[in-house]
Amino acid sequence: MALHEMMNYSQLFLEIFNELQQIEDRGRVADYIPELAHINPDHFGVHLTTIDGRQYAFGDSEVRFSIQSIAKVFTFVLAYSRVKSNIWERMDMEPAGTPFNSLIQLEYDRGIPRNPFINAGSMVVCDILADQLASPRENVLAFIRSLSRNSTVDYNPIVAHSEKRSGFRNYALVNLMKSFGNIRNEIDKVMDLYFSICSLEMSCRELSESFLFLANNGIVPHSGESILSPSRTKRTNALMQTCGFYDEAGQFTFKVGLPGKSGVGGGIVAVHPGKYAIAVWSPRLNKKGNSYKGMLFLEEFTTRTKLSIF
Ligand code: GLU
Repeated sequence: MALHEMMNYSQLFLEIFNELQQIEDRGRVADYIPELAHINPDHFGVHLTTIDGRQYAFGDSEVRFSIQSIAKVFTFVLAYSRVKSNIWERMDMEPAGTPFNSLIQLEYDRGIPRNPFINAGSMVVCDILADQLASPRENVLAFIRSLSRNSTVDYNPIVAHSEKRSGFRNYALVNLMKSFGNIRNEIDKVMDLYFSICSLEMSCRELSESFLFLANNGIVPHSGESILSPSRTKRTNALMQTCGFYDEAGQFTFKVGLPGKSGVGGGIVAVHPGKYAIAVWSPRLNKKGNSYKGMLFLEEFTTRTKLSIF
């Protein structure tokens, strides 16, 4: 079905939501970051924005939540758009095939992460931004505020602190990379930025609007601002397709068929190049760390509308 033929996505969202209510949610809220365990697991929101400016929402679409790893796309795009050096010397572009915080691969590959969307890769991106930007924390926030057109989007210092205190594995990753010379700044500087970006809070609406340039050849539709070249946009979408869902990117591609990125806060953002960006939030996660109902919802959405890229 073509996008314009769809009468009312909000109605379809309601129908799919009601059907999913009949299914037991077998996911669990992420609790390895203590502060995330407090969330009401029954939240559910979705927001779709088309590149010609139409908006369709359902449920808690305006409620902000911890976007966690979804932020890795923003920092990667910022680095990719600003950095002249070859960032691919410091990270790869391959699916991980291991959990997002796995140490094993880093040892084999001498401190080069498999891609920018696993934790280690995002730490290298933070290291690059720390070199390139005068005030990385502030510059990253300004970038995301401008994409979301909302100056109140912010870090949550309580979540960042909670993550810092429990982030033993993340410190292991960054130390291992530092031992191989792939982290140039002081570890605390890199990790303060990393934990800050993970603590960002945004709503489904803000996420779908912020990702819209990736559905539009790198150009923000409403302002005409160019964020990335068409070629780099294609590559970013390719990375999301192959690496955006931990070691479940194949499953997401198989079932949903869109490039996207998820986070352990239960959010998923996906884009259909040339058409739309959609964000869904449901906090309970499956065993791989992706939103249990969020994935089911998107599978139903792209199946019924035939709006996947495949
Ligand atoms: N802040 C989380 C961590 O580093 C991000 C996990 C995620 O959303 O994938 O463990």
